Amino acid sequence: MLFGEASIPVEKAVFPKALWLDRLIDIPPAIKQINKVLTSGRFPHFSIISGPPGSGQLIAALHAAQFLLCGSEHKPCGECLSCYKVNGLIHPDLHFSFPLIGAGALAIDHYGPFREAVKEQAYLDLPFWQRKFDADNKQFNISKAETWSVIERMSMKPNEGDCNVMVIWMPEFLGKEGNVLLKLLEEPPGNSYLIMATEDPSAILPTVRSRAQVFQLPPVDEGVLADYLCRQFSMEMDRAMEYAIISASDVATCINWASQQSVRWLDLGKMMFQKAFIGDPMGFLEWNERLIALSRDEQKQFFFFVERLLSLSLRTRHGLLTVREGVEVLEYAAKISGRMDAQTIDNMQIMITDTIYAIQRNANIRILLLDFMIKLSGLIRGV
Ligand SMILES: [Zn+2]
Repeated sequence: MLFGEASIPVEKAVFPKALWLDRLIDIPPAIKQINKVLTSGRFPHFSIISGPPGSGQLIAALHAAQFLLCGSEHKPCGECLSCYKVNGLIHPDLHFSFPLIGAGALAIDHYGPFREAVKEQAYLDLPFWQRKFDADNKQFNISKAETWSVIERMSMKPNEGDCNVMVIWMPEFLGKEGNVLLKLLEEPPGNSYLIMATEDPSAILPTVRSRAQVFQLPPVDEGVLADYLCRQFSMEMDRAMEYAIISASDVATCINWASQQSVRWLDLGKMMFQKAFIGDPMGFLEWNERLIALSRDEQKQFFFFVERLLSLSLRTRHGLLTVREGVEVLEYAAKISGRMDAQTIDNMQIMITDTIYAIQRNANIRILLLDFMIKLSGLIRGV
C-alpha cells in the first residue's frame, strides 16, 4: 500500500461532483418532466429528446444516461465511479451513434473526436462537428453499417451496470436506414435504453418516431442566454441580446459568434446595406476588404447572420414580431422592412444562400463578394 494510506475500493471512491445537468444554462420544465419519469423508474426504453437548434438536447440525453447508469441511491449523484465515467463519456455501457462521412463509417471508431467535441461544446451542433473533420463540403450520414452496430452494441451484456444506454445524436441523418432499427425498437434487448437527441424529429421515419416517447425542449430564454454570454465572454448586454435574438436562442451559434468574432456582424451588415443603397463601386470595394480580412468560416457566419436579420425583418413586416425599443438589432430589422418589399427580401435570402454555398465550395472570394454587392445593390435600388 502506497504511503500507508487506507485503500478505498474504487467503486466506493468519491469523485469531484460533475453532472451533465449543470452544463445546461437554463433548466426548462421539460427537464423536470424527464426527471419525473426517471425517478419513477419508468423511463422509456426508446425516447426522443427534441428541441430547436442549440437548446441542449444532447446534454439532456447525457443527463438521462447519467441517471440510468448511476450506482448511488440519489441519482444522478455525480460523484460515484459510474457518474465519473459518464461525465468523461468513457462509461463502457454508454454508447454513441452520430453522423459521419462515408458509407461504412462506424461511430465506435470515432469516439475520440466525439468525446473531444462534446467536452469542448456540450451544446454540440453540426457546424462544430463538421469543423472537427474539416469537412465543409462533405456529406454526413448515419450509415446502414452503423445502424447494425447500434443493434450489436445495445444487445451486448452490460459491462459494469445493469443496462446499456445508447445515445444517437442527430438521428435525422439516419434517413431510411432507420428501418433497420425497427426490430430493435419492437423488442429492446434486455435492460437497454435508446435515446435520440434531435433538432428535427420530422426527419426521423414516422414508423420509428411513433414508437418513442418524445420530450420537447423549448428554446433557451433570450434573457438567460444573453446574461450567460455577458458573464462568459465579458460582452456588453446589447451585443449579447443581439446574438440571442438573431440566433433564435441557439446557444451553440451564440458561443461560436462570441468566441470567434472580432468584428460586430451588425456593423458589417449595416455597412453592406448602406453601400448597396448608395450603389457606389468604391464603397463595394471598401466593404469587400473588410470581409476578405475574415476567415472563411467567419464569412459564412456573417452571411448566416444577415439571413437571420432578413427573417426578423420579414417577421416585423408581417406583424409577427414586436420591436423592443433600445434593442438595436430589432430596430434595424424593422428599418430594413420599411425600405424593401417582401419580394426583394425573399430574393435577397436566395442570393445569400447561394453565396454561403459558394463560400463552402471555396469560390474566389473577391469575385464572389463583388458580384454579390453588384447584384444586391441592383436588387435594392430596383435597377
Ligand atoms: Zn452516481
